Amino acid sequence: MRIIISAIAFIFSLTNTFAKAADSNLLITRLTGDFYIYTTYNLYKGDKVPANGMYLVTAKGVVLFDTPWDTTQFQPLLDSIKLKHNKNVVLCIPTHFHDDRTGGLDYYRRQGIKTYTTVLTDQLSKKNNKKRAEYLMAKDTVFNIGKYTFETYYPGEGHTPDNIVIWFRKQKILYGACLIKSVEDEDLGYLGDANKTAYASTIRNVQKKYPQPGYVIVGHGDWTNVKSLEHTRAMAEELKRKNRK
Ligand SMILES: [Zn+2]
Repeated sequence: MRIIISAIAFIFSLTNTFAKAADSNLLITRLTGDFYIYTTYNLYKGDKVPANGMYLVTAKGVVLFDTPWDTTQFQPLLDSIKLKHNKNVVLCIPTHFHDDRTGGLDYYRRQGIKTYTTVLTDQLSKKNNKKRAEYLMAKDTVFNIGKYTFETYYPGEGHTPDNIVIWFRKQKILYGACLIKSVEDEDLGYLGDANKTAYASTIRNVQKKYPQPGYVIVGHGDWTNVKSLEHTRAMAEELKRKNRK
């Protein structure tokens, strides 16, 4: 019996290893129901760093939140979604102007996908030579697609001047992207476009508006711990204190 168990364990570990090797540039994990997290990778300061996006499968097509960071994965992501769910991506909404969110906007627009950012994101994208969306949102916007409803929310400046979060009230999913850091992060990461004094109050705005999220999806790293929001607030308070001196 022990031999059989160890043989099964060995086969499982092999399958796992092969699956990981084949998908090492694009990882898709189910979050809950029709919600999936996709992760691609890029080099940042010499390290391979993961970036998380999300997609939602609806009867009216798939909604993509942010585009892959790895530019080689724009089409593989569409292909994987088609293969897995037999559906096309119809809508794409990046959450701020950095490449790890907007990189695929041109590509997806050419595939007939409707692309949306806020007006503020578009202004910053234009100024910084980033890819831009076809449609613009002038204020917080509610989307209805299939049986799903979600809203965009601009809580103020933080990681960037334009960062938005997306809230799924029924599923209690807070898609925070790069505004929210993972519990494993020891600092707030890249602050080149950040507002170091407003960051903390921006996080408090998110906490006030969505006091009890069931899921908090961060832009990079571990997205399975809702304490990421409080962890980010604490680091942002610290950043504010330092910048007062
Ligand atoms: Zn980011």
